Amino acid sequence: MARTSNWDSAVVIGGGYAGLLAARVLSGHFGRVTVLEQDTSPGPDARPGVPQAHHPHALLARGAARLEELFPGLRAELHAQGRPVIDFGAGTKILFPTGWTPRNPVGIEVQLLPRTALEHAIRERVTALDNVAFQNGLRVERLLLDADRDAVTVAARTRAPGHPSAEEQLFHADLVVDATGRGSRLPQWLAEAGFARPATLTVDGQAAYASRLYTLEPDPARDWSASYQPTIAPTSPRGGVAVRIAPDQWLLGLIGAAGHTPPADEDGFRAFAGGLSNPDFARIIDQGTPAGPVHRTRTTANRWHRYDRVPHWPGRLIALGDSVCAFNPVYGQGMTVAALQSALLDTLLSQHTLRVDLDRLGPTFQRGAAALVRNPWLLNISTDQGWQDTGMPLTSRIATGFLGALTARLPHHPGLYLRFVRTMQMLDSPASLSSPRALAQLASIPSTRRHLARSTCPGATG
Ligand SMILES: Cc1cc2nc3c(=O)[nH]c(=O)nc-3n(C[C@H](O)[C@H](O)[C@H](O)COP(=O)(O)OP(=O)(O)OC[C@H]3O[C@@H](n4cnc5c(N)ncnc54)[C@H](O)[C@@H]3O)c2cc1C
Repeated sequence: MARTSNWDSAVVIGGGYAGLLAARVLSGHFGRVTVLEQDTSPGPDARPGVPQAHHPHALLARGAARLEELFPGLRAELHAQGRPVIDFGAGTKILFPTGWTPRNPVGIEVQLLPRTALEHAIRERVTALDNVAFQNGLRVERLLLDADRDAVTVAARTRAPGHPSAEEQLFHADLVVDATGRGSRLPQWLAEAGFARPATLTVDGQAAYASRLYTLEPDPARDWSASYQPTIAPTSPRGGVAVRIAPDQWLLGLIGAAGHTPPADEDGFRAFAGGLSNPDFARIIDQGTPAGPVHRTRTTANRWHRYDRVPHWPGRLIALGDSVCAFNPVYGQGMTVAALQSALLDTLLSQHTLRVDLDRLGPTFQRGAAALVRNPWLLNISTDQGWQDTGMPLTSRIATGFLGALTARLPHHPGLYLRFVRTMQMLDSPASLSSPRALAQLASIPSTRRHLARSTCPGATG
């Protein structure tokens, strides 16, 4: 992207995944981009500001394609570091209550990697940009918003040890981006500055993850790289995922919905894995060597701040990534939605170049960002509402009924499975699953519930 530098400066609050993507985009439009990050030295390891990095992260095909546009050669670079690239269909085993999905190539390549490696590689690329500067160890505490001029000033305080009460530092910029993630305090900052608080939608499926890294001797008999057992509302609240993130490293995440929290202690973790129908999880525990402790999180509720509906949204402020909408992570959508929002930002800034007018960017961006959230949000909440004991909305009853019928048939119908994979990788809209052709496919096969004897699992050779 050729730099045009139509505007002088931009500030990005939060140097995590979405903040880095925003910085990359802004570097093509602004003379200077400053990234303010509360963690003191973000590096290749998990850090306090991004606790979710301990858990398995799927980078969906659509998000990966966007990252490749922003950072050409990123996949190859990570592959050279040992991060596998697989055909999703051939390399992934998924166990539904009615059986294992087909193990045929589907022509969709995905890369398996830890969240830390992805973010670190992106940070290295962004750090190399000569007009992007990082200020780490600075926690933003408030925004000074001028309602008349739409100007935004960022007020931050150092968190460096030994400077607990350091003076507030002010950063003035032509554009401010909030990318502070799920815990963003932007609603409060807006209210403190005299703006309307956004309406916030929350649907909590009470999902919990307990994850642990294992080293495992390579075994030619293990001809798969990812194994999954999804939780399915309202009948299957326990599941898990195991991903080969390096030739000898496996990240195992046990997942419980509706309060079926997987334990973090040694025995409880093993017992939860052993109780699942998918035998791969217990095998990894038995055959592998733990390379760290069990990390657990229950911070998974779907939460959407409706910034797109805030009247008089500041023109020179935008929010993206989890700061806008944090999803229940079981469908792995967060990083892809953030990548699509960064593409939107690039497009809008290119259009605004014509008018050299930033004052209307904020509301336009938030409306577009909300449009990108809508489909994944509807999928998540309609299934998560399926965990409710009572009062499940009609839309959820229809959605969980449809998904139940669909997933029951997936193991026995490669064509339908391909549609499902393309939708879950966000390559096709969810509407493609209810197209006349898909519905005809759905109706043509019985949903025979097969007994899940382990001996019948293809590829369950662990
Ligand atoms: C258990 C779990 C599993 C997940 N699995 C997947 C998956 O499979 N696929 C997927 O796509 N997504 C997954 N996600 C979601 C994914 O982690 C998020 O969508 C993604 O991290 C969003 O990036 P972000 O930059 O918006 O937020 P974050 O990555 O959380 O980054 C926020 C950054 O802002 C900084 N910050 C916060 N407050 C301040 C402040 N006041 N001042 C300065 N800096 C600040 C933080 O230190 C951090 O660096 C998962 C999430 C969880 C919890």
